[in-house]
Amino acid sequence: MRNVHLILIFALLGLCSTPARAQTRLNVVASFSILGDFVRQVGGNKVNVITLVGPDSDVHVYTPTPHDAKDVGEAKLLVVNGLGLEGWLPRLLQASAAKAKIVTATDGIAVRKRGADADPHAWQSVKNAMIYVRNIREALVVADPADAPIFKANADRYLTELDALDREVRAEVDKIPPERRKVIATHDAFGYLADAYGVQFIALLGVSTETEPSARDMAGIVETIKRNRIPAVFLENFNDDRLIDRIAAEAGATIGGTLYSDALSEENGPAPTYIALVRHNIRALTGALGREAR
Ligand code: ZN
Repeated sequence: MRNVHLILIFALLGLCSTPARAQTRLNVVASFSILGDFVRQVGGNKVNVITLVGPDSDVHVYTPTPHDAKDVGEAKLLVVNGLGLEGWLPRLLQASAAKAKIVTATDGIAVRKRGADADPHAWQSVKNAMIYVRNIREALVVADPADAPIFKANADRYLTELDALDREVRAEVDKIPPERRKVIATHDAFGYLADAYGVQFIALLGVSTETEPSARDMAGIVETIKRNRIPAVFLENFNDDRLIDRIAAEAGATIGGTLYSDALSEENGPAPTYIALVRHNIRALTGALGREAR
């Protein structure tokens, strides 16, 4: 009888402690919206994710707020892209007296160089996104070993989806006639996509958004579009459209749509998750480039 009581007490303790533990979510801060999605996919309901640079916003030029400093100060993990993307980060870390472990999601990626600079936009290759996800999974497992089986299961499911997405992108690009696989975009954000899938991108700006093209750069690009018969130019979801509008008008090129480069869309937009972003971009490209030349 006494044993039965003890078993009951332990059973009750077990029941009480399970919900209490489920409520302690791991606080994770992600530097920008695409990383925030990766962390949510792997962390599920075991993490509380805060994203610093939100949807449709420019992660290259960002001014952290005092609220960001507070969020970073309370975080257990801070997930960043690295490769020079978050130039504003060191000052934020100083301001927040952060104790968070910093996770560089691009660790292990074959870095694309543009002159002396690293190209930070590695997520534009889906295979690279899979490396991001594995790095995030490892960091979550170390930070919260009790929930490791959940993180591993979530990551496995998501990695399977990403692997299928990578094949889907290749199949879509195959539909574009090879001589039409070239586009103009605002800033140099699609180099990894170009290398992985064989679509040539010519950018108006560099790998960051901080510099404006000169009149001579603009004339050069119009010349390039005409000489190479580039079928379409694309807008980006967070950059000023006026440059591209001008280029398209001067070169007589079609505006192919909007590409999501460095940020997700809002929840009700066409790219609220990374997978939706990749699908949206590849459909915009095949839509504009897949048509036969006039
Ligand atoms: Zn960028």
